[in-house]
Amino acid sequence: MTRRKASYRSLVSLQRDNRVCRACVEAGYPLESLPVFEGRPRQKAMIFGQAPGVVEGEERRPWRGRAGRTLRRWLELEEDAFYEIFYCASVTRCYPGRGAAGRGDRTPTPREIALCRFWREWELSLLRPRLLVPVGGLAARELLGVRSVSDFVGRTYELDGAVAIPLPHPSGASSWLNDAANRAQLEGALALVRAELRVLAAAG
Ligand code: SF4
Repeated sequence: MTRRKASYRSLVSLQRDNRVCRACVEAGYPLESLPVFEGRPRQKAMIFGQAPGVVEGEERRPWRGRAGRTLRRWLELEEDAFYEIFYCASVTRCYPGRGAAGRGDRTPTPREIALCRFWREWELSLLRPRLLVPVGGLAARELLGVRSVSDFVGRTYELDGAVAIPLPHPSGASSWLNDAANRAQLEGALALVRAELRVLAAAG
């Protein structure tokens, strides 16, 4: 049964309730995993994805599949360093299952996104990250209200005191990265993320 308190004073307590959330299932959505996220208090950087995939749902750990390996290669981070640096959460946190056409995963509905927003809003207010990296169009739209990948990749935003630098999704499902100009745009965005990570590392 989903537990949501009126207010949370610690991230650990929020995570305890988020881990057993079944709000979307209770609302009738066919989710295929329990919630997936990972992070600790005082992490200063956050990766915000769309939703876990099948591998992440099985392992209950974010960014375990091919898209995660691509993301780490983009960021030039080994696996241990990636999880050490980044708090990992997403717009919705349970594997949504395959899409109706059988190609790719189902995109979470607006209702599921609204139900999951509760966890993200409390998470951001308790964690207060300095760097936010939304990954993919859905995450950039949810966090920053921006729509077009071409418009947001390579730009820096401000959100509640954090620097936000959106990236395209590394799943390979989109053809956006097939264009050389778009890959150059991605390199610009990755350079911005790496520079912010150096600033955070220097600040301790
Ligand atoms: S997607 Fe989010 S709101 Fe829905 S059941 Fe999973 S954790 Fe709860």
